Amino acid sequence: MQSCSRRLMTDLSQKIGFTTNRRYFCDKAKTTLKGNANILLKQIEARILAAGPITVADYMKEVLTNPTAGYYMNRDVFGQTGDFITSPEISQMFGELIAVWLVNEWMKCGRPTPFQIAELGPGRGTLMADILRVFSKFKIAGSDFSVNLVEVSPYLGQVQEKQLCLTQAQEATEVPQGSQHYKQSISLYGSQVRWYNHISDLPRTFTLFLAHEFFDALPIHKLVKVDQGWREVLIDLNREDLTLRYVISRDRTPACLYRLDNESREELEVSPQSLIITQTMAARIHQDGGIGLVIDYGHEGDKTDTFRGFKNHKLHDPLVDPGTADLTADVDFAALKWAATHPRAFEDWKANLTYGTVEQKDFLTRVGINLRLEQLLASCRDENVARDLKSAHKMLTDPMEMGSKFKFLALYPSVMEKILERYPPPGFV
Ligand code: SAH
Repeated sequence: MQSCSRRLMTDLSQKIGFTTNRRYFCDKAKTTLKGNANILLKQIEARILAAGPITVADYMKEVLTNPTAGYYMNRDVFGQTGDFITSPEISQMFGELIAVWLVNEWMKCGRPTPFQIAELGPGRGTLMADILRVFSKFKIAGSDFSVNLVEVSPYLGQVQEKQLCLTQAQEATEVPQGSQHYKQSISLYGSQVRWYNHISDLPRTFTLFLAHEFFDALPIHKLVKVDQGWREVLIDLNREDLTLRYVISRDRTPACLYRLDNESREELEVSPQSLIITQTMAARIHQDGGIGLVIDYGHEGDKTDTFRGFKNHKLHDPLVDPGTADLTADVDFAALKWAATHPRAFEDWKANLTYGTVEQKDFLTRVGINLRLEQLLASCRDENVARDLKSAHKMLTDPMEMGSKFKFLALYPSVMEKILERYPPPGFV
């Protein structure tokens, strides 16, 4: 049965076509720092002076998403000239294979329409652009589905709009009153595209959820075991030179109420916001039907200290120059799986089925990246493009590059158990 799915994936991927549409590793976008990092530091200093040390989660939230000076809020941070590069930006092959996977699984669910593709944290919109192109090759009508993006950054919202839509989105005033979304437009293929602040604002319908390098940007609390029990690592101001430094909370903090009973680690990171978002996704998948695909770097609940900064593709001290570097922590996939299978007491949903995590190299190889590379190379007349394609393939799949570090997790409604026993999700087995 598994090979049936594989065969279907191969048939589907044949349909995508044989053209390359990207100039690999050639990134013309300019990275300009509009936000004033000093302003952000001043705000953080003032807050600590007024109310005492802040949690790493509060710090991360402020540094990444402060409306005026937050790292993501007013510039393009991706690519060679940015601070980091992501898989969809490396090669069209990545998004195409994800798209084929989504089509395959949507068909397995009986091709429900209308449906939505909901992406959390779409960045430049490159993954979604590749997905929409593939969906159009499969003749899935633009009117059959909507594209709903959960994006906190107005700047990246504009970049996504340019990438995905024919026209500039209507002004905020033209979004119907009382709408949950803050912006809307029409995709190149005729689908409605809408932008939302929160996952819980998304429309209620069958949903293909996608989150690529989204959860690693969500705030984490850092906890440490001391003689008296669990305490939280906080961020304080060094009064002598006005730099930021870590301190350990004197007493327990609310984050110390996290599930720590059977915890053998002496130090760990927890992200309550990630758990809430995963529970919301799982609830929707149960109640409205859908599938979730989460892709990120992360671990199975065994890592301790992964909070770090990235600037110009290099590690950067997270406490230095806040707002000028990306802040991130490895995703705890064991915690996400726990959230997807543990409804809160008052909620009306059943545990989702979870598949994975599997490593990126295994997922991409199983769904046909080698075949896709061959197809693209066969139609490629430019030596440089061919070289870039091979190098992109290596970067995505080599265990020493992104192949092992990145993991895939899938969520399905419990009603699909029997179908999935016969036809397991491609890429996961
Ligand atoms: N998925 C893209 C971008 C990853 S970067 C890619 O792989 O290329 C993280 C993305 O999440 C950015 O678009 C950022 O603006 C968005 N983001 C970060 N925190 C968010 C939050 N709390 N709510 C919604 N979007 C958020």
